[in-house]
Amino acid sequence: MQVRVRYAPSPTGLQHIGGVRTALFNYFFARANGGKFILRVEDTDRERYSTESLQDLYDTLEWLGIKWDEGPVIGGSCGPYVQSERFELYREYAQKLVDMGKAYYCYCTPQRLEELRKKQEEEKSSEQGYDRHCRNLTPEQRAEYEKQGIKPVIRLKVPTEGSTTFHDILMGDITRENKDISPDPVLLKSDGFPTYHLANVIDDHLMGVTHIMRAQEWIPSGPLHVILYEAFGWEVPQYCHLPMVMGKETDPVTGEVHFAKLSKRHGSTSVRDFRKKGYLPEALLNYVSLVGWSYDGDREFFTREELENVFCLEKINKAPGVFDYQKLDWFNGQYIRKKTDDELADLLMPYLCEAGLLKETDRDRLVAFVPGVRERLVLLSDAVGMCAFLKDQGEPAPELLIPKKMDAAGTLESLKAVYGYIRPALEKGASDDEMQNSLCELAQKLGIKNAGVFNPLRTAVTGLAVSPPPFSCMRLLDRAEVFRRIERAIKVLESCSKER
Ligand code: GLU
Ligand code: ZN
Repeated sequence: MQVRVRYAPSPTGLQHIGGVRTALFNYFFARANGGKFILRVEDTDRERYSTESLQDLYDTLEWLGIKWDEGPVIGGSCGPYVQSERFELYREYAQKLVDMGKAYYCYCTPQRLEELRKKQEEEKSSEQGYDRHCRNLTPEQRAEYEKQGIKPVIRLKVPTEGSTTFHDILMGDITRENKDISPDPVLLKSDGFPTYHLANVIDDHLMGVTHIMRAQEWIPSGPLHVILYEAFGWEVPQYCHLPMVMGKETDPVTGEVHFAKLSKRHGSTSVRDFRKKGYLPEALLNYVSLVGWSYDGDREFFTREELENVFCLEKINKAPGVFDYQKLDWFNGQYIRKKTDDELADLLMPYLCEAGLLKETDRDRLVAFVPGVRERLVLLSDAVGMCAFLKDQGEPAPELLIPKKMDAAGTLESLKAVYGYIRPALEKGASDDEMQNSLCELAQKLGIKNAGVFNPLRTAVTGLAVSPPPFSCMRLLDRAEVFRRIERAIKVLESCSKER
């Protein structure tokens, strides 16, 4: 049997961590078993549908490098893969169920249903939901409703006795008393639109889905779906409901730690947000795959290709997985360190351009700068703050330029000597190490500490007390600008040593 799995999101919002984890587990499971990964767009809820969400779905999967074998855009033998393009099919199959006596037309008006609901509420009745009023209408009654022009819905006949069981690979057997299942839910609405249950079951069957891997919150729908499969006479696929993704919360008063379903309260949840902040797809994919799954409990680093080989259901944790933002940051830093200077420059460029700090044509200088900050970056967007010195901070204040235990005259002497060395050194392409050594020698010659040489240089070039290493900064700035800033600082020192 070839494994066929699907990710079936509803495009009603941005792709979030939980959804993406479901997509990844399905994708990896398909790959690891030589199966097919299907993408299906469940857009039956036309009110909550948005094209932005659909685009976000495609962008997210592309960014993560997840390619579907069948689905929208690329098609496949079971298409179309967008539910709104399959409405005719759902009508046909709903009618089949009616013809087989497994479903029926219901002519109840919204008003009647509303009155029913109120009555049940007032009487605190144990009967909840639809009262199966139309389940056994006579042909004459039906004809009468039809004559009145009432457009019926189609409802599923849920058995009133017995129980329904389905097997879940992780959770084992899950049984529900039939009387506790929603009494005869609507399958097809009066406007001919299917409900989630109908479309989902028909599509999973027609698309040959063998394993249904989805979030645990869908467990309550399980028994109903099994009843539907059985009504059609179809084989029930295997279920594997995935444990929830939780966020960690610390009570600000008691300091107690507890967990709740991951939500915006805990931080960003949409992949788009993570992407904007400068998380790398490799890092997000790696970390999200470890939320509720592990290889041997020890190994942490996995590329997408590796997960495509080693993923298996047996290693999915039964307990909810905790999404740890700090751990993701750590992964991101690790993956940034693996980038070459060129790769990292390309990744940082958009952030620096958007901040108005660099232009595309400055790329070579960025490549030369990158080694100075690689180790300090957690997010790509951190580079914006680190490059604040690119904006001219204006004439530096003497207090900033003059190191502790030095005076204006001494600092002036030092900076002049530094400039005398640095200018030709940069022009002839000296390395950081060369410059570092020469400046240390210079400090010795001047009889001052190394800081007395390096700090004025840093402040002269960046205008800031804190910045990336001064040599890196000098490589990122335009050369003429470096010299201009140092000369300007020399003038500041000159005028204040004259004053004294
Ligand atoms: N469209 C459903 C969702 O948005 C799919 C649930 C399922 O996988 O069956 O999660
Ligand atoms: Zn009815």
